[in-house]
Amino acid sequence: MAVTEPTITTQHHVTVAESPGLQGFLSERDYEALVKCVHCGLCLNECPTYRANGLEPDSPRGRLYLIRAVSEGTLPVTDDVVDHLQKCLVCRACETACPSNVQFGQVMEAARHELLERHATPKRRFLSWLAFRQLFPYPSRLRLVGTMLRVYQRSPLPFITDLLARARILPARLSVMEKMAPRLSNRFFEIPRTQMVPARGERRHSVGMIAGCIMPLAFAETNDATVRVLTANGCDVILPAAQRCCGALAAHSGDADATADLARANIDAFEAFGMDRLESIVINAAGCGAQLKAYDHLLQDDPRYAERARRFASKVEDVSEFLARTGLSAPMGEVRRTVTYQDACHLAHGQKVRSQPRELLHAIPGLELVEMRDSQRCCGSAGIYNIVQPEMSMDVLEAKMENVLATGTDCVVAANPGCLLQLNLGLKQHGREPRAVHIVDLLDESIRAATPSRP
Ligand code: SF4
Ligand code: SF4
Repeated sequence: MAVTEPTITTQHHVTVAESPGLQGFLSERDYEALVKCVHCGLCLNECPTYRANGLEPDSPRGRLYLIRAVSEGTLPVTDDVVDHLQKCLVCRACETACPSNVQFGQVMEAARHELLERHATPKRRFLSWLAFRQLFPYPSRLRLVGTMLRVYQRSPLPFITDLLARARILPARLSVMEKMAPRLSNRFFEIPRTQMVPARGERRHSVGMIAGCIMPLAFAETNDATVRVLTANGCDVILPAAQRCCGALAAHSGDADATADLARANIDAFEAFGMDRLESIVINAAGCGAQLKAYDHLLQDDPRYAERARRFASKVEDVSEFLARTGLSAPMGEVRRTVTYQDACHLAHGQKVRSQPRELLHAIPGLELVEMRDSQRCCGSAGIYNIVQPEMSMDVLEAKMENVLATGTDCVVAANPGCLLQLNLGLKQHGREPRAVHIVDLLDESIRAATPSRP
């Protein structure tokens, strides 16, 4: 599809208020962020979707053109336009590459919100309502769905689904989706009744922890390990039971209202535990961390929450960021492994956290880190992207797996549940053991090796 470049004389020349064909597609603030793009193209080579198909409308610059043209009323919202915007992984690699500091993620989420509001099909609206208004805000409902999925995964049904899909009796997509779904833990992560786990030994810090929505179901052991690593390093860990999903999946899908409701619920939950007393609010999922840090932007126009959201966001740290900043005090034992590290997009590009996870890996005795080429490039997971855009997701994953396997190790460390699932899928597709692990799992293993009597 040809992209028509909007008439641009100088940066900020056309404003939302002045633009004659404006459809009110973006707020003034998001439009201002959009027109910072000077079309230099420095972001193109960093964009996984552009690298996969070479199409300008599937590049950051092309997508910004499209959003701007729609916003200025010179381009109708066609199925093609929607498709190019939906193909974006929102990995934000373009933000890192951009010399004009275009906040691409902010613009894309705003554009998707408007698309959902104005142009979504009834089916898409219903699915979005079901997921982001009826399921993710309610941990008990998520747990119920998780329990049903776990029973399904441990029954012969996945095998039968695969057979029927191969025989073309069921759609092939069903079998692919089934393989991409997270394998649910045997035991889900539970927030303790006391909503607090005390430090082991001398108390050095008091931190809050967000348990997440997918992590307790699919990575319960990693959440357990996160609590153990924090307490072993002198932290009282506060886990308010009223906390909710961070809203990242809703935000990426364009449901800004559901995201804002979840943000308010989380702020309320931590304020009830004296948020200002907490040194940090720690999270072990990169996508969630980026979202939690954006609560100030999300709620800036809400007079009741704007200042509280700013205080909340200022305390959020990825677990690797917190541990690298405060220093590891727990004894560390040997972990004899060679690993490579995948920079989760929302950690490297969304939060600019790159050196801290590597510092922690280097601190584990016996562990060898082999850097992979383009470790900062997306693996194709991107929330539910691998389910809604399976073909592009697999193209992006294949490029990633080439770089993983070229390191000579198939143990990949990442700090985001989506990346771990996607990388394990890639390893399995290449006939390897699924050995993608979270960084806190390795830290926990190291601490356990030093203190073998620990539970
Ligand atoms: S967010 Fe990622 S996929 Fe989307 S345009 Fe930017 S680099 Fe490309
Ligand atoms: S690098 Fe930034 S300014 Fe250049 S084309 Fe990409 S988004 Fe626009």
